[in-house]
Amino acid sequence: MIPVFDGHNDTLLNHVEDPKRDFFSRQADGHVDYVRAREGGMVGGFFAIWAHSAPLPHVAEESLTDAPPKSAPAGAVDPAGARAHADRCVAQLLAWDRDPRFRLVRTAAELERAIDDGVLAGIMHFEGAEAIGPDLCALDTYHAAGLRSLGPVWSRPNLFGFGVPFEFPHSPDMGPGLTPHGLALVRRCNELGIMLDLSHITEKGFWDVAHTSNAPLVATHSNAYAVCPSPRNLTDEQLAAVRASNGVVGLNYNTGFLSPDGGYATSMPLAVMVRHVDHLVDKLGIDGVALGSDFDGATMPDGVKDAAHLPNLMNALADAGYDEEALRKIGYRNWLRVLKLTWGE
Ligand SMILES: [Zn+2]
Repeated sequence: MIPVFDGHNDTLLNHVEDPKRDFFSRQADGHVDYVRAREGGMVGGFFAIWAHSAPLPHVAEESLTDAPPKSAPAGAVDPAGARAHADRCVAQLLAWDRDPRFRLVRTAAELERAIDDGVLAGIMHFEGAEAIGPDLCALDTYHAAGLRSLGPVWSRPNLFGFGVPFEFPHSPDMGPGLTPHGLALVRRCNELGIMLDLSHITEKGFWDVAHTSNAPLVATHSNAYAVCPSPRNLTDEQLAAVRASNGVVGLNYNTGFLSPDGGYATSMPLAVMVRHVDHLVDKLGIDGVALGSDFDGATMPDGVKDAAHLPNLMNALADAGYDEEALRKIGYRNWLRVLKLTWGE
């Protein structure tokens, strides 16, 4: 079985919303638990921390910041709520880390050791930086707690920039780029060695990060716009920039970001996922393509309905001509490669 290190899951949310849910026993619903991860060859992944608090009332926005722009844009969420939610998610991740079957990893060496030891490896990832204030002090705090990956925005605006709304079909050029706070966030992430994730960001934001960051460009869970014209996917021009930076793109299994018609039919054949991988490999090279399921946060195709069914995807890729070395790169080695470049050895 080819090991899979996964670029994105929203599994933490299930547990924060239902504290009695046991990650280490098989669950009847959802996509990832320890048992099904092991069955499918999943050796670890990025565990996302994402807040779905209600949008701020417009009047409260002025109090968000102390530097330009003077307010977070309409549609932003309450940072205090996001911070409280992030703290609960971090606490959950740290609780799992106390179990010998799970390890929160902070370095590439720790990640490799966890895989060698047969321990499920987790990377703490923020999907949207709402929990970080304009002074960026919380970034240092969360980094000390283990934060090693961050997407400045989810598909909504915040203090740092703008995310793409879920429209179809539409190009990712759907709004402004990074704010001055966003540019400062990128530079501080570079200094701390926090990987920057470009999934969900507008095309202008993508180029702002590309022109500001000194790290490889990464989209943890996005697909090829040429195959599925969703704003969540990357154009060939963006893919060329990812390749030039030695970056990586993780294949998203969400049917709506895979199907050429943007549909969410779960009967979508795995051949559609192979088409995306073929296109990504064509544009990024075999060293630039990885996996980023979006498990527990999206609508999965029947063929990979949960982590236990990951071998179906690897078998479909093998049937399409990918040899074992290529499958190991896509499965986990490309994540290791880019994390070593971003975090240091
Ligand atoms: Zn996402």
